[in-house]
Amino acid sequence: MSLEHARYDRNAELLERAFRELLVERGVVSDAAVDAGVEFMYTRTPALGARVVARAWFDPGFKARLLEDGSAAVGELGIEVRSLKLVVVENTPMLHNLIVCTLCSCYPRMLLGLPPDWYKSLEYRSRAIREPRAVLAEFGLHLPAGMTVRVHDSTADMRYLVLPMRPEETDSLSEAECAMLVTRDAMIGVARVDSLKNVL
Ligand code: FE
Repeated sequence: MSLEHARYDRNAELLERAFRELLVERGVVSDAAVDAGVEFMYTRTPALGARVVARAWFDPGFKARLLEDGSAAVGELGIEVRSLKLVVVENTPMLHNLIVCTLCSCYPRMLLGLPPDWYKSLEYRSRAIREPRAVLAEFGLHLPAGMTVRVHDSTADMRYLVLPMRPEETDSLSEAECAMLVTRDAMIGVARVDSLKNVL
C-alpha cells in the first residue's frame, strides 16, 4: 500500500468514526445496529453473485427477469438488496461490460461483499472509463478489436453486476458446479469465466 493510500485509509477511518459517534450520540443509530450492519456485510461474498449468474445460465426465464429488474430477480433467490437499484448487464460475443465507480467506491456489495482495493484506487476509477481496453489488458483480458466495451459508472443508489458468458465445455455441469466457476472479477468485468479446461 502506498503512503498516499495509507493516509487516505486513515482519514476515511477517522471520518467514519467521528460520523458514527455523532450519529450514536444523537440517537440516530445505536452501536449495536452499526455492529449488526457490519457483520451482515461480512456475510456477503462473491458466492452470492455467482449463484445469481449460474441461475441465469440455467433458467432463461430468470435471466430475462434479472436483466429486466435485477433487484426484484435476486429477491427470488432470497437475496435482499434493500433500496438499491441493481442493474445486471449481460456480456455477449459482441459486447463486454465493465463496472466502475468513478466518484468513490460504489460496488454491488450485497452480491459480492467488500470490493478489492484496486477497485477503489484512483488509477482504476480514472482509467477504466478513459481507456478500458488498456486496463482490461493489464488484467490479462485481451478483447478482440470488433468487440464493443461498455463501461458502467455506479452511483450511491445504482449498482451494476456483469452477467458473464457461460464458458464452453460446461454442458455436463450442474448449476451449483457452474456457480463455482464464476469469480468476483468476472462479475466486475475484468475477467471472463474460465472454461472448465482451464480450471481443471
Ligand atoms: Fe462510489
